[in-house]
Amino acid sequence: MTERNYERLYIGGEWVLPRSGKVIRSIDPATENVWAEVAEAGDEDIDLAVAAARSAMAGPWKTKITASQRGELLFKLASLLRRDAAKLAETESRDNGKPLRDTISEVQRAVEWLTFFAGAADKITGEQIPIKPSALAYTRREPVGVVGAILPWNSPMLLYSWKLGPALAAGNAVVLKPAEQTPVSAMELAKLTAEAGFPAGVVNVVPGYGNVAGAALAGHGEVNKISFTGSHATARRIMQDASVNLKRLTFECGGKSPHIIFEDADIERALIVATQSAFRSTGQSCSLGSRLLVQRKIYPQFLDRIAARAGRIRVGMPLDPKTHIGPQTSAEQLAKTQSYIELGKEAGARLVTGGGRPAGFDRGYFIEPTVFADVDNRSRLAQEEIFGPVLAVIPFDSEEEAVALANDVEYGLVAGLWTRDVSRAHRVAAALESGLVTVNSFRTTHPMLPYGGYKLSGLGRENGMEAIHHYTEIKTVVIDFDTAAPADPFQD
Ligand code: ADP
Repeated sequence: MTERNYERLYIGGEWVLPRSGKVIRSIDPATENVWAEVAEAGDEDIDLAVAAARSAMAGPWKTKITASQRGELLFKLASLLRRDAAKLAETESRDNGKPLRDTISEVQRAVEWLTFFAGAADKITGEQIPIKPSALAYTRREPVGVVGAILPWNSPMLLYSWKLGPALAAGNAVVLKPAEQTPVSAMELAKLTAEAGFPAGVVNVVPGYGNVAGAALAGHGEVNKISFTGSHATARRIMQDASVNLKRLTFECGGKSPHIIFEDADIERALIVATQSAFRSTGQSCSLGSRLLVQRKIYPQFLDRIAARAGRIRVGMPLDPKTHIGPQTSAEQLAKTQSYIELGKEAGARLVTGGGRPAGFDRGYFIEPTVFADVDNRSRLAQEEIFGPVLAVIPFDSEEEAVALANDVEYGLVAGLWTRDVSRAHRVAAALESGLVTVNSFRTTHPMLPYGGYKLSGLGRENGMEAIHHYTEIKTVVIDFDTAAPADPFQD
């Protein structure tokens, strides 16, 4: 018997046994034990969930419920998350391995996001376009319809709000598939959407494997949009499957973000931010500053100090309030991180700190914060997303070189720079190929700020009113009130 059992899927406002007859066994990454069993959705279950969402789109959710009422439902959901924050955080810490201090802040952030989108619901408007005096032309922003939300395992709680917030504010129905590694908090979320009072079928929660449930959603002819966060390899597959009915797509696919420290930076602040943004969440975030570019004059000192800070990070059990970072979420991710550490050594990068399993843990997917210096920007250590606590530090001489190195990567999600020179700040911000550039801070995400990637890092944008645009179709309506006879090309 596992500690938690969720035998049913949440479809059409009901808790239903999966037609697949299967369960996902979810592993606690700190102990390597199966701690929860969750119903697994197969093809047939996805069909049912999509049908439920479709029928919700044909009912009062579309025809009767006002934008303000959608906002109220989202406010209610936000307040329920706030009420249950401690329980949700603990659940996520068990399932994902993140320490409580991170999961608590993640739930709080999810509340902020839902609150923003609750407020946005009744501010979604079209415009009137003056094409000629004798016509009224206007646009309506209509929901795209049924949205398949496919989530990764690294920040489930936060991403529920990134996906559900704009989708529901804009009046869509959602079929949400959490990652197979972290399905548990999604089941708790499903209960809260029911309690909040969303009509049946507006939110459906169907845990499942990517190549089964995920692929079924992506290829489903009745799904209008996929909103996906995960690897770009999967995004490519989804894009192919989604081509069946030209689905609308929002992809957020990770990065290898450059964090540039110029010699005139506020070093003390930059050190704190560079350390947290390289190692937080055990390196399992797409927005990490995993490539640290440091100007030559301050390079040796900055490197020593960040390595010392990395060495002081407390790796520990997720439920221990003192823990800074927990284990990696899965055995596969741990193996991947270890393989990159080996690659780094083989490629001749200088291992300054970490590189191994921390002492005192004979179980669990734990790994030390690791810093490599003098990394070649063309090496795999600097080019590929590791998703572990492994920092590549690279020296540079000039501003031009920093920009060239920063952009010399296939990704473009986040970039940051530290300088006191305001002209340089604007120059470099304009030159960086990245969806988000922060100056004298790093990876500032906020519900009001559009977020997404250039290049392989994604497609479309999440957050801000920009996200709403990606969850609506524009319909143009033209009402001609001319009384003169229309031009008739077939007259003679
Ligand atoms: P990671 O490599 O970090 O696990 P993935 O991109 O494989 O990231 O997974 C992110 C999400 O995409 C998960 O919910 C996973 O189940 C889903 N997924 C994986 N493969 C597919 C697929 N072929 N079609 C749709 N979704 C998929």
